[in-house]
Amino acid sequence: MDSQGQDKSSSQGATARAAGEAAPGIERHDVKAVNKAEHRELYKKREPIFPKRVYGTFRNAKWAIMAITLGIYYLLPWVRWDRGPGVPDQAVLVDFGAPRFYFFFIEIWPQEIYYITGLLVMAAIGLFLITSLFGRVWCGYACPQTVWTDLFVWVERLIQGDRNARIKLAKAPWTADKIRKIGITHSIWIVISIATGGAWVFYFSDAPTLMGDLLSGSASTSAYLFIGILTFTTYSLGGLMREQVCIYMCPWPRIQAAMIDNDALAVTYDTYRGEPRGPHKKGATWDDRGHCISCRQCVVACPMGIDIRDGLQLECTQCALCIDACDSIMTKLDLPKGLIAYDTDINIAKKAKGEEVKFRFFRARTAFYSAILIFIGGLMVFGLSSRDFLELNVLRDRIPNFVTLSDGSVRNGYTVKIVNMGPDQGDYHLTLEGIEGATFRITGDPVDHTVLPTFEVGGDTVRSIRIYVSLPANHLPDEAQTPVTFVVDNMENGIQKTARSVFVTGENH
Ligand code: SF4
Ligand code: SF4
Repeated sequence: MDSQGQDKSSSQGATARAAGEAAPGIERHDVKAVNKAEHRELYKKREPIFPKRVYGTFRNAKWAIMAITLGIYYLLPWVRWDRGPGVPDQAVLVDFGAPRFYFFFIEIWPQEIYYITGLLVMAAIGLFLITSLFGRVWCGYACPQTVWTDLFVWVERLIQGDRNARIKLAKAPWTADKIRKIGITHSIWIVISIATGGAWVFYFSDAPTLMGDLLSGSASTSAYLFIGILTFTTYSLGGLMREQVCIYMCPWPRIQAAMIDNDALAVTYDTYRGEPRGPHKKGATWDDRGHCISCRQCVVACPMGIDIRDGLQLECTQCALCIDACDSIMTKLDLPKGLIAYDTDINIAKKAKGEEVKFRFFRARTAFYSAILIFIGGLMVFGLSSRDFLELNVLRDRIPNFVTLSDGSVRNGYTVKIVNMGPDQGDYHLTLEGIEGATFRITGDPVDHTVLPTFEVGGDTVRSIRIYVSLPANHLPDEAQTPVTFVVDNMENGIQKTARSVFVTGENH
């Protein structure tokens, strides 16, 4: 059969298989097997990874970072911060009811959301800077996925034993002992997941009160819902999916490639020193061979299940556990540590040539990221330190635009909001500029005033005032709309804010 004939036959086979029929020359009972084989090519089954416990500098650093980050996450909602009476005393609180964001001594109002935007931009640029200097250290040490997976693996190891014991258990038939060990592991994972979801909702409500409500079953449905969602995601992402989240779901490994150059630090196997690799007998010479003894300790320690000796890979989170694993082997062999180490591509190439190596901290991209960080950080600090805690908002009535009264005067209605963002009550004097001869009537006050009164506004409060402004017939301007400005003065400290609007006396044509 010629090639054309083969194509045709293949095409017929595909069509027949799609229709659930046997292709010419293939028995019906073979069809399922063919389909299954094609299916296998498309989807690779996950191979479970059982990382071996390692000891060393980077493992200790990871323990320390895990303790700090998890400690902050779980405990922060319980830290109190006295802001005075009538204001929440939770140090960090996102209060949707108020609405406010409290962060220790900083209180952000909704109209100051740009501070949150600034913080997020700074966090992103900071991550870019760290990545361009030290590679994927965020992934390796501080990313929540890494931290919780590390915690879950620690629990697994505690209950089921180290790598070999876990592999043996996974392959073993389902005995009472296996059910007990797997059951305890998953139970602890679920408890951690519930605590994680619980801690999250405490950031949005007074933690001690919410804890009481949750335990008594009287908390809001949304609180239980969010705890449920976060319990599920923590358990599935940290316990079941683990490295697959980093490899297949997270976009960061793809994005960070744009920030890494030959000067960025990365966990690197020193090929020039390690190769040619191979088993080494005690006492044998190291001449004409590399220092890698093919013990695979770096591979079995890797939580991503990869071999760093194959070069920099997308899967590598730069957790550096392979460095600890290899360093302990080098120590046993009485060889210098650092066969696997944080290094830059440039330095590795220089080492091979016997040239002096150095780490270049200042490069164009690091200078650029640093400059942006300093600029935005400076703006944020300046903005926060020069806040005057006063806002004025004015909303003019649109329906109707204006009202002509029986004496010929024209009236406009406004809703004026004086926002006292400070902790203390204050007196605020309001004036209107732009028109002459106006009288003012405040909702709830039957008297017309020729000047606007002073308003008392409580600390951390928005006072909303309905004001009707009337202009007598002999003061009406020629234009249909006259620009006006509301001015509010804090009587204690003289801080002034303005808000523009218009006084409407006729329809625009
Ligand atoms: S741990 Fe070190 S010596 Fe052992 S295989 Fe890995 S690189 Fe080679
Ligand atoms: S190769 Fe090394 S640094 Fe990369 S993920 Fe594996 S253990 Fe961590």
